[in-house]
Amino acid sequence: MPPVPTIKVSSRGAKRLKDGHVWVYRSDITSDGSAAPGALVRVVDDRGKTLGSALYSSSSQIAIRLISPDEVKDLSELLHKRIQAAIAYRERFVHNTDAYRVVFSEADSLPGLIVDRYNNLLSLQVVTQAMDAEPVRQVVLEELNKLNPEAIAERVDPKIRELEQLPVKESGLLQGDKSTTIFTMNDVRFHFDALEGQKTGAFLDQRENYAAAARYARGEALDVFTYQGGFALHLARACSSVTAVDSSRPALEVADRNAALNAAQNGREIEWIEANAFDLLRDYSSSGKHYDTIVLDPPAFAKSKRALDTALRGYKELNLRALKMLRSGGILVSCSCSFHVSAPEFLAMVAAAANDAHRTLRLLESRGQAQDHPSVPSIPETAYLKCLIFHVS
Ligand code: SAH
Repeated sequence: MPPVPTIKVSSRGAKRLKDGHVWVYRSDITSDGSAAPGALVRVVDDRGKTLGSALYSSSSQIAIRLISPDEVKDLSELLHKRIQAAIAYRERFVHNTDAYRVVFSEADSLPGLIVDRYNNLLSLQVVTQAMDAEPVRQVVLEELNKLNPEAIAERVDPKIRELEQLPVKESGLLQGDKSTTIFTMNDVRFHFDALEGQKTGAFLDQRENYAAAARYARGEALDVFTYQGGFALHLARACSSVTAVDSSRPALEVADRNAALNAAQNGREIEWIEANAFDLLRDYSSSGKHYDTIVLDPPAFAKSKRALDTALRGYKELNLRALKMLRSGGILVSCSCSFHVSAPEFLAMVAAAANDAHRTLRLLESRGQAQDHPSVPSIPETAYLKCLIFHVS
């Protein structure tokens, strides 16, 4: 085996690792030891003391991602064990679904690798040079095949490959020839297409929140930013009517096919509306429409710390309009998947919107991602989803 290069980090980088984070930014690398792209490296502080083993990226701002506080002699062996541990964690904590995240990158100590399962299909995404290396891919496929998938797809984000200076590649099937299936969560059925859709195809991180929302939902419901109907299809089991809004026609087409799959269990037909949510909420609230349940699940408004103020204004406008439209005793389910908007900031934003709307909030539940998207306290970036459920009077 070739010798493992040594990377020296500044005292700030060393402190970050000692505090339990796994990233060191390029600005905190004082010597890169001529490490090759994607190499396994030894990390030392400015006095030469070993801090652990990491995976190196020659191009990302996140120059190293720690994979162990110890020296790693055999990377393949470590990766085998890590994937097995990730699978065992899901076997223990995931229930009532055949769709869940099998591997969640840093949260499973497998930085740069994401794997989702949709019934008998697996979808993987590689976002670092190290995870793209052929020997690593082989380990990943070997372990994933123990789940007996009918096919394994790879989803490629061209922007990430460019940032990591990896060769251009298209999304596609790595093995098998089946790219569509039907998966079930909370007894609700969904179409899945491994080669279409946003992210890895569906928003698995909301699975437990769908069920929670359905427990409180009642009366006339509005699901804003519905995508393929995740919340709407769950609300349809509990509500007298459901209207769902999204600006994406292809997403709504899948949503409608999902509704047909669940028609026997749905109380009512769901009305799908293609519109800009901001315009629609403005029109609906000024024309005096009212609802008993409103779900807001917008895309990440704050993609960076700089965008925080604009993002909070966007969230506040949505929440303000929704609060004005809720009948007394109504339920507001308000979500944010922006990591850069912290949970306290998000809660304070909804509180301010309620003040402006002269409504009283009672927080029923403060929720995050489903447990198959674990969050690690020392790596704040692993906790990004907020889902607040309020009683509104
Ligand atoms: N609630 C969904 C996930 C929503 S993802 C679920 O549980 O599956 C965010 C959605 O917002 C995407 O479907 C996107 O098409 C939609 N979107 C983005 N901007 C929008 C806008 N201005 N108006 C309406 N929909 C928008």
